[in-house]
Amino acid sequence: LLRLEDVSFGYPDGTQVLSDVSFEVPAGSRVALVGPSGAGKSTILALIEGFYPVSGGVLRWAGTDVREMPRAALRARLGYVEQEAPVLAGTVRDNLLLTRPDATDPELWAVLADVGLTDVVRRSPRGLDVLVGDEGVLLSGGERQRLAIARALLARPELLLLDEPTASLDARNEGLLRDTLAAASADRALLVVAHRLSTVLDSDQIVVLDQGRVVARGTHGELVDSSALYRELATAQLLV
Ligand code: ATP
Ligand code: MG
Repeated sequence: LLRLEDVSFGYPDGTQVLSDVSFEVPAGSRVALVGPSGAGKSTILALIEGFYPVSGGVLRWAGTDVREMPRAALRARLGYVEQEAPVLAGTVRDNLLLTRPDATDPELWAVLADVGLTDVVRRSPRGLDVLVGDEGVLLSGGERQRLAIARALLARPELLLLDEPTASLDARNEGLLRDTLAAASADRALLVVAHRLSTVLDSDQIVVLDQGRVVARGTHGELVDSSALYRELATAQLLV
């Protein structure tokens, strides 16, 4: 579905961030990007999302160089959940309707069920009109993140890009996010930047990035056996 071939990238200010990054996200698969802070994980998502053009190499969608695709066509196939500011001020309903103004209430409830938010929203007397964001934080950080995922899912993207923030994830939300990702991957490809390895241990492929280079890839089991950096990341999170 998506393929990066020897992608390199430097920010306009001259900071060189990625060198010869190659990996593939097959249709329907789950791929995780992990690595130390500053490795270039979020930058890769920004390139895929089309926020910047690659400086070298090629980014392909189903074989087509993205430079030959209109950005709108690309974005229609993608859902992108950024690392920061995942929800906007307003209500749950406002947030969801941003992606699909025509969505019906049953569709909104269905997507909230996918991310495990129906109970939370139902508990509020205002239901879908419960306020989130600056006007009154009535959802927790983890719940807001799941709302952002719900918003992206509502557009039925072929590929969901998710930059997982650590800050809002306590153990309970971490478990909920794992379940959400499993539900979200039922009929689409997922590329997840994982700050918590525990949320992506069952990925089809985990790509380990360090200083802008792919230094290892494989399943969790393969990486534990083959990559010292991966073991280090896993240990730092007290998982192995
Ligand atoms: P984290 O796990 O902390 O989110 P990351 O792997 O997502 O890290 P990136 O955000 O991709 O890392 O950043 C990679 C490098 O690019 C860092 O050295 C960062 O300082 C630099 N960088 C990020 N955004 C910009 C920008 N807009 N302009 C210049 N340099 C940037
Ligand atoms: Mg990042």
